[in-house]
Amino acid sequence: MSKLSPDRLLGERAVAVDVSGIRRVFQLGATLDDPINLSIGQPDFPVPEAIKTAAIKAIREDCNGYTLTHGHASMLEATRRHLQGDVGWTFDDSTDLLITSGTSGALQLVFMAVMNDEDEAIVPDPYFVIYPNLGPMFGGRIVLCDTAPTFRMTAEVVEPLLTDRTRIVLVNSPANPTGVVLSQREVDDLYDLCTSRGVLLVCDEIYDLFTFPEALEDARFPSPARRGQDMLLIRGMGKTYGCTGWRLGYAAGPTWLIAEMAKFQQYTYVCAPSIAQAACCSAFEIDMSETVADYAARRDLVVAELSDVTEVVPSGGAFYSWVKVPEHLGCTATAFAERAVERNVLIIPGAVFSSADTHFRLSYACCDLKLREGLAILKDMMVVSRES
Ligand code: PMP
Repeated sequence: MSKLSPDRLLGERAVAVDVSGIRRVFQLGATLDDPINLSIGQPDFPVPEAIKTAAIKAIREDCNGYTLTHGHASMLEATRRHLQGDVGWTFDDSTDLLITSGTSGALQLVFMAVMNDEDEAIVPDPYFVIYPNLGPMFGGRIVLCDTAPTFRMTAEVVEPLLTDRTRIVLVNSPANPTGVVLSQREVDDLYDLCTSRGVLLVCDEIYDLFTFPEALEDARFPSPARRGQDMLLIRGMGKTYGCTGWRLGYAAGPTWLIAEMAKFQQYTYVCAPSIAQAACCSAFEIDMSETVADYAARRDLVVAELSDVTEVVPSGGAFYSWVKVPEHLGCTATAFAERAVERNVLIIPGAVFSSADTHFRLSYACCDLKLREGLAILKDMMVVSRES
């Protein structure tokens, strides 16, 4: 018998933070033999050959040690060059870059650096699952910004939530779970609102590359970083190049902030994984347009199949659709997702990502055949119930 008791030993943080609801769906899915899995939050394509080769080379060349806290010099240089070309940033004394352990690593470090317990951070609802937990884990109160029914986190919906305690406005575009991409005008307005109120705009652009043609402006992905450098820009390599397990991301922003985040990185992650950094130095040059076109075609398929039976929120990127559970079914998204499991289909109900349980996230990061099968079943569940 253990003499250690969780009641005596577990801290308030452990009690305040719940297990991700996504894990529960995975547990349900584990009971199925060969499920049609439309719940996956990572790309279904292999890591590009050039990145694999670079990783193998790095292992053979014994790149095994710690890198500098900020990142390996080549990864830093490649990322700076990429951001200069992409969003026009200059890296001088006032702007710096930190290579992080995934995008999650960057999000955690900025909360560690900025938030006191009494401070507030505004995050979108629906949200990526770690957002509401950043407060309980690292300090501060999370204020949910209800973006329904358009699911666009615009300056208009953020502004009324700002108080003198607001320190961070966290925006995600293209968004998980909705796939919504904000327009350049919308992100510019958010940038202006935050800078004028002395609030830090943090933009999570992990899906930046997966932006579909109609959401691009002047052939570019709309980012508040095009408006100025008074913000924190967070991106990652995991989704873009199909290597989520390699844990690589980066954060760019004011030097004073990056210095504090680097301090916390030194005492937590120490550095981003050395092999992943060595492998991804040349990743920015790889053409991923075929993959993006594939995802856009699958999004079109989801819309074509489901939009005559329900509402599919208009999306412009990532690999998710945000689908409404038709009202005539009279059930929550959680109940609908449980019924879908009975038909061998895995989707993630809205309650996992939101205080509302009206929609579900459908991931089309899966093969076309399974996607078609899954869509047929979901459509049938919506239609049959209307008729019965
Ligand atoms: N932000 C968003 C919006 C995400 O969807 C994810 C991963 N699902 C992350 C951050 C975390 O990414 P990483 O694996 O790079 O930590």
